[in-house]
Amino acid sequence: MSEGSATIDVEDHAREYDPEARARALQSLLIEKGLLSTDAVDRIIATYEEDVGPLNGARVVARAWSDPEYRDRLLDDALGAITELDIDVDEDTMEIEVVENTPTDHHLVVCTLCSCYPWAVLGLPPTWYKTPAYRSRAVKDPRGLLRGEFDLELDEEIEIHVHDSTSELRYMVLPQRPPGTEDLSEAELVDRVTRNAMIGVDRLGE
Ligand code: FE
Repeated sequence: MSEGSATIDVEDHAREYDPEARARALQSLLIEKGLLSTDAVDRIIATYEEDVGPLNGARVVARAWSDPEYRDRLLDDALGAITELDIDVDEDTMEIEVVENTPTDHHLVVCTLCSCYPWAVLGLPPTWYKTPAYRSRAVKDPRGLLRGEFDLELDEEIEIHVHDSTSELRYMVLPQRPPGTEDLSEAELVDRVTRNAMIGVDRLGE
């Protein structure tokens, strides 16, 4: 036994894990070692905020609404179906599963440990996604969370499924196609898809 306590309280570890502090520390270290410049960091962040925003996921959803065979492929092999649309996904680091909302089932995505998020399709996560309040309540009281924080009242008959993202497996919700959009083109449908609907804190048109 080495000196000091070797006991690791897993819950304490999860609570104290601060991804932002770790990212800052890592960035400082890489810049100090000359492996990274602040300009490069700014460029990457700008790319993900502006160029790889929620639009990629919206294109995927609109295609799935318009093409039943694409929808089947998306639910079966999300990564393959997403790359069909020329969306750049680093397949070595990101496995994605798409879960489909139905009239009886609602899916909600969270990362209970930190902030794992499918950025290739949804861009950077919203600030609230990373908060301890969202992360814990999504698991303990998803219905209350949706009602209280997102103004989304789900019928009691609708079952809520909570998906805990990890660095290995991230989730995206395929929302239901809103009523009254039958005549819209695929391009028009893209504009109806919101980031929140693809996280599962919104049901379009409800
Ligand atoms: Fe995470």
